[in-house]
Amino acid sequence: MHTMNAKTGHSHHQHQWHDVGSEYSLFVELTSAQNIDALDATLEHVFQKLFDTDSVQVVKPTDPTPDEGENEQRYTISNAEEDIIRDIIINDQRNSPKRLFLDAALEVYVNHYDLLIKSQVDKLTGLFNRQVLDEKIRRLSIGKDLSDRRKNDPSRVIVIFDIDHFKRVNDTFGHLYGDEVLVLISHMMKTAFRPDDWLFRYGGEEFLVFLNNATLEQASKVIQRFLEKIANYEFPQIGQATISCGFTLYDSHHNFSTIIDRADKALYYAKENGRNQAHIYEALIESGKIESSDRESDIDIF
Ligand code: GH3
Ligand code: MG
Ligand code: MG
Repeated sequence: MHTMNAKTGHSHHQHQWHDVGSEYSLFVELTSAQNIDALDATLEHVFQKLFDTDSVQVVKPTDPTPDEGENEQRYTISNAEEDIIRDIIINDQRNSPKRLFLDAALEVYVNHYDLLIKSQVDKLTGLFNRQVLDEKIRRLSIGKDLSDRRKNDPSRVIVIFDIDHFKRVNDTFGHLYGDEVLVLISHMMKTAFRPDDWLFRYGGEEFLVFLNNATLEQASKVIQRFLEKIANYEFPQIGQATISCGFTLYDSHHNFSTIIDRADKALYYAKENGRNQAHIYEALIESGKIESSDRESDIDIF
């Protein structure tokens, strides 16, 4: 197995350059990919051109493991922590000259992957930053007028949470201990939510989770469990820390700012009512505990 390290981008054996005529276009195609999904798609496209075959696959850790092919060569790309990022699987004749060219292509891929990740991920917590959220929302809303798509749109939930009395943590123990709480909470997020949910550091000590494929009821259970997990956790030096949480259904017919306002209102309600709790915007409206502030002009009927 051939492995590559995504941090250094160095392959573990020297690559040879072969004149297959497409080094530059290959480089340009890969480096013009603006996000990880596009980079994967471009890599597959480039390899398919290069190998003149459609048996090139990019396999993510969350994908099911494909059956092993007879001529299969698997290239594993991992980060410095040895976590597997991608497997690239080639089913092609062994020792073809084109195949040796793969090294160079993978090196470009890995370096660009690293750059993209650095621009998308918050340094302290390793969660997506706000620009990625904007991009994901933009992409979701592009498909919103397709009536087909609308019917098949899965139920999605937007969750916002904020650490309770975090100023006190900083004031009492210092900023470094505050940072440690942020890191530990983001680790807990990664285990509490599913791999296809999107996790963001939304602000200083505010987080946003985009639950793909979840109803309010399902979200409620996950969030409740998460809240308890944090409240029961013994943070080094600090002891207990809690979070307050607001959530609401995501629907692509409204401006995203309207949806965020709804989740924010539910979060505000949680803060006002004693903290360390989660509230559903829709339930608060229905029970008359809060009033809707949606503006009609926000509803995007097109
Ligand atoms: P509340 O329960 O109402 O949310 O109280 P709070 O003290 O958490 O309220 P507030 O939102 O006013 O304070 C947030 C604090 O979070 C202020 C800021 O110093 C701290 N903070 C924001 N970003 C960071 C960070 O990256 N590291 C650390 N250590 N603290 C941060
Ligand atoms: Mg705050
Ligand atoms: Mg706070």
